[in-house]
Amino acid sequence: DRKISAESIDMLAKKHFPMCMRSLHDRLQNTHHLKHFGRLQYTLFLKGIGLSVDEAIVFWRKSYGANISDDKFNKEYRYNIRHSFGLEGGRKSYPPRSCQKIITQDQPGPQDNHGCPFRHFSLDHLVPSLRATYGITDTNDLNEITGAVKAQHFHVACTRVFEITHANKGVRKGDGLGGGESVNHPNRYFERSLELSG
Ligand code: SF4
Repeated sequence: DRKISAESIDMLAKKHFPMCMRSLHDRLQNTHHLKHFGRLQYTLFLKGIGLSVDEAIVFWRKSYGANISDDKFNKEYRYNIRHSFGLEGGRKSYPPRSCQKIITQDQPGPQDNHGCPFRHFSLDHLVPSLRATYGITDTNDLNEITGAVKAQHFHVACTRVFEITHANKGVRKGDGLGGGESVNHPNRYFERSLELSG
């Protein structure tokens, strides 16, 4: 099994995370806080990429920083992280969420940052985010992505972002994650991106 350290998350996020997870990561690093469903979505994803429970606790503690005391972190957050790993409560191990689940369940409110940006961001927010986060500035590219979003083909929009941002790895339009496979799971997006960088 691959071992991922808490310190490597920031670098991996910038190179390999799909927009849903990059958005949670950036929000967490900028505000030192995520609301419940954001924490859950991100914790399960990180577990899926190979972050151990101990490294997950290090990562979240550091990300929260001085925003909360050790005491509060230990009481309120450590348990939830361990719970997501199936180490507390009913000891059920929860799998990382698929796009389908992220898109259809636990709809985010205005203050939330979880969900799928292609489904849940307004276009006024999505387009500047694509520019700022992924450096996608070409009008045709942006029109293709927003066209897919308007047609409610959210996974097509995400797949197009993958193709554009991996063009330097030889990925062309229509290749998707390989052989035309479109994005249906954030962890699969990550795995393929990592594979292409190796
Ligand atoms: Fe994340 Fe899936 Fe949405 Fe892409 S389509 S941003 S992987 S939820």
